[in-house]
Amino acid sequence: MFLRNYPLANLTSLGVGGPADFFIQAANLQEVVEAQRFALDHNYPLTVIGYGTNLLIKDGGIRGVVVQIAAPFARAKVEDTILSATTGCLLSSLSKLALRHGLSGLEFAVGIPGGLGGAAYMNAGAYGGEIGPLVRSVQLVQDGVVKTWQRSELDFSYRTSRFQTEASRPIVTEVQLELVPMDQGAIRQKMNDLQNQRRSKQPLEYPSAGSTFKRPPDHYVGPLIEKAGLKGLRIGGAEVSTKHAGFIVKKGEATAKDFLDLIATIQSVIWDQFRVRLEPEIRILGED
Ligand SMILES: Cc1cc2nc3c(=O)[nH]c(=O)nc-3n(C[C@H](O)[C@H](O)[C@H](O)COP(=O)(O)OP(=O)(O)OC[C@H]3O[C@@H](n4cnc5c(N)ncnc54)[C@H](O)[C@@H]3O)c2cc1C
Repeated sequence: MFLRNYPLANLTSLGVGGPADFFIQAANLQEVVEAQRFALDHNYPLTVIGYGTNLLIKDGGIRGVVVQIAAPFARAKVEDTILSATTGCLLSSLSKLALRHGLSGLEFAVGIPGGLGGAAYMNAGAYGGEIGPLVRSVQLVQDGVVKTWQRSELDFSYRTSRFQTEASRPIVTEVQLELVPMDQGAIRQKMNDLQNQRRSKQPLEYPSAGSTFKRPPDHYVGPLIEKAGLKGLRIGGAEVSTKHAGFIVKKGEATAKDFLDLIATIQSVIWDQFRVRLEPEIRILGED
């Protein structure tokens, strides 16, 4: 069932942004296909969201149809070394499922807050691990038709994938991951170590959308921003984290414009001072 003029802010970790013209939370493959066909039939743009942990939705909201793939569309199974999951599964849950089966590969994902669809789209990664190399194949819906693409067709590289460049905006519905058997104790130890690193370095006590910018060649974003004296800089309710300058956190009431203005300010200062272009890693969607 499509909901009209549906507020999206609470479906994102940042909690800002306007409504969707039409919204549907898909619970199965058929509903995903129907949502895409509805958008195609009416010539509406279609946007997919997962758990909204990598999103900055603008204050004017998103025109056309927004399909959310999250908890109602979460099913996973393990057969031998293959973990198959629908894209509403949380990455952290899949990481723990792999641990229970003594399968290694997803340890890096234990502290990443979003879902498998967003992870495939973004080629999510951390601490030297990435989802792309683990992917065997994906099921997707393109032009209202269910298809399967193999890893070789997915063009994974640093925080990008073929899904970001396809004009038809395919919706990823299921992913098969190929994992490696390993001693459970060793997997658990690695997960605990990575979680501890994350907790000590990242500002998890405030809402954010993760790392604001992609890592530019030969530089680290946090130290660059810190060197430019921008740590703690605040516009409205958006603040460069004082704990890790690579994050922008929400402090109190904020609008999407606060975040956009702060991002633009950082980009301009970093360019002026270091001649380094910072490209947002977070996905900016919708209209002003
Ligand atoms: C505190 C914090 C820490 C984070 N740490 C990391 C980290 O270490 N590494 C990392 O890579 N990311 C990190 N992130 C970002 C984020 O959690 C990941 O990118 C996550 O995989 C996004 O999943 P999501 O379900 O929230 O996707 P969303 O934010 O909802 O969407 C992200 C993008 O994916 C697209 N998308 C989502 N689902 C689908 C689908 N089914 N089909 C097609 N496209 C889809 C959306 O259109 C959007 O462009 C962090 C975020 C936070 C808040």
